[in-house]
Amino acid sequence: MVKVVKFGGSSLASAEQFSKVGDIIRADESRKYVVPSAPGKRSSKDTKVTDMLYSCYTSAEAGEQFRVQLMKIKERFDSIINGLGLKISLDEEFKTISANFKAKAGADYAASRGEYLNGMIMADYLGYEFIDAATVIFFDEEGNFDSEKTNQVLKKKLAECERAVIPGFYGSNPDGSVRTFSRGGSDITGSIVAKACHASLYENWTDVSGCLVADPRVIENPQPIKVITYRELRELSYMGASVLHEDAIFPVRKAGIPINIRNTNDPQAEGTLIVESTCQKPEYTITGIAGKKGFVAVSIDKDMMNAQVGFCRRVLQAFEEHGISIEHMPSGIDTMTVFVHQEEFEGKEQQVISSIRAMTEPDVIDLEADLGLIAVVGRGMKSARGTAGRIFSALAHANINVKMIDQGSSELNIIIGVSNDDFDAAIKAIYDIFVETNL
Ligand code: ASP
Repeated sequence: MVKVVKFGGSSLASAEQFSKVGDIIRADESRKYVVPSAPGKRSSKDTKVTDMLYSCYTSAEAGEQFRVQLMKIKERFDSIINGLGLKISLDEEFKTISANFKAKAGADYAASRGEYLNGMIMADYLGYEFIDAATVIFFDEEGNFDSEKTNQVLKKKLAECERAVIPGFYGSNPDGSVRTFSRGGSDITGSIVAKACHASLYENWTDVSGCLVADPRVIENPQPIKVITYRELRELSYMGASVLHEDAIFPVRKAGIPINIRNTNDPQAEGTLIVESTCQKPEYTITGIAGKKGFVAVSIDKDMMNAQVGFCRRVLQAFEEHGISIEHMPSGIDTMTVFVHQEEFEGKEQQVISSIRAMTEPDVIDLEADLGLIAVVGRGMKSARGTAGRIFSALAHANINVKMIDQGSSELNIIIGVSNDDFDAAIKAIYDIFVETNL
C-alpha cells in the first residue's frame, strides 16, 4: 500500500512542526511519498516564506538591494535545520538563488524556492530521496499543466524510488524554466503524485481537522464532516468553504483515489475523507452549510414576459456584454431576477441597466443590494422528505426573511438568499435544526 502525504505551510513552519510531521510519517510504513509546502506562518502575525520570496524578488527585479531580505529567508530555513539538529547546509543553494535573482530568473522561480529548500530539508530529515519537481512536473507551451508528459515521467521516476520527497507548487516549462501553479498549489502536486504512483490514499495534512459542517467564524465549534463526496465539496468550496485548492481534486478524482484531510496538530483525529461516491449515510441530512455575502439582485418585470421568445437571453446578454458573471437566476411568469456579485456590478450598474432597457423594454427594473447567499449542501437531501420545510421553518422561527430560494435539480443543494444582516443568524438557524437538534 502506498500513501502520498502532503503537508501545508503551517505544518512545516518551524522545527517543532517538522518533528510532528516526522512522527506522522514514521508512524505509517505506507507513507512513502511526501509533498511539502514552503514554511508558513508560525503565528498570525508571521509572514509565509513564499510571500517573503515574492517581495525579495520584487526588490531584486527593481535593481534594489535584496541581500537583507534574502538572509531573513535563509534564517527561517536555518532555524528549522538547527532546531532539528541536521547537518545539511543551504549556503551554496542561497548563493545560486542570489545569482539567479540578480539574473532576473522570474517571480515563479523565486516563489518556488520555498518548496524546493523545504523539500531538501525534509528529505535530509527523513532519509528519503529528493526529487526536484522541475524534473518531473511539466507545463506546456501555453502554460497549462501537461498531465500526460508529467504522468509518464513521474511514474517512471517514482518506480525507481521507494521513498521520496517531491516539493509542491512548481514544475517546469518546455524551456526548462520554473513555473508555479497558483497559490496553494502544493495541494495539486500532491494529487498529481498520488495519481502517478496509484496511491491508495492521498493524505492532505493541514492545521484543521478536515472540513467542518459550517464556518467556525459563524458557528462555535462546528461538527467535522467525516465523509464528503467530490461534488458536495465543489458546492461548498464554491460558496467559500476552502480546505483544498480547487484544482487538486481532478487528478485523484479521475484515478479514483480518495483524499483524506488531516490535522498535523491533532493526528488522532480522523479528519475528512473525500470520495467519488459513498453509500455511507451522512450523519445529518445535510453535509455542510457555506455562504457568501455581497450580492445584488437585479429584478426585471415585464407584462407578458413569458410570451416573449428570447427575453431571458437578451437580459443575460446585457450582463455578458459588460463582463459580469451571473450567480443565480430565479424567475416568475412576468419577472426574472438576476443575482450578481456586488463588487463586480457596482462600477457598471448604470451601463448594464441601460443595456437591459434598450434590449428588453421592461416595465420595471429594481435593484436590491447587500444580500447573502447560503448553500445548504448534502447528498442525504435527495431522498429525505421535508428538508426544505425544515430549513424554512427554522428561518421563519429565527425571524429571517428569505429573499430567494433555488434548489438544484440534482437535489444536492438548496441556495437561500437573505439580507447580509441576517446572514450569520440564518446559518445558525439552519445549523441548529439539522445538527444541534438533528430532528
Ligand atoms: N507556498 C505556496 C503558497 O503559499 C504554495 C502552497 O503552500 O501550496 O501559496
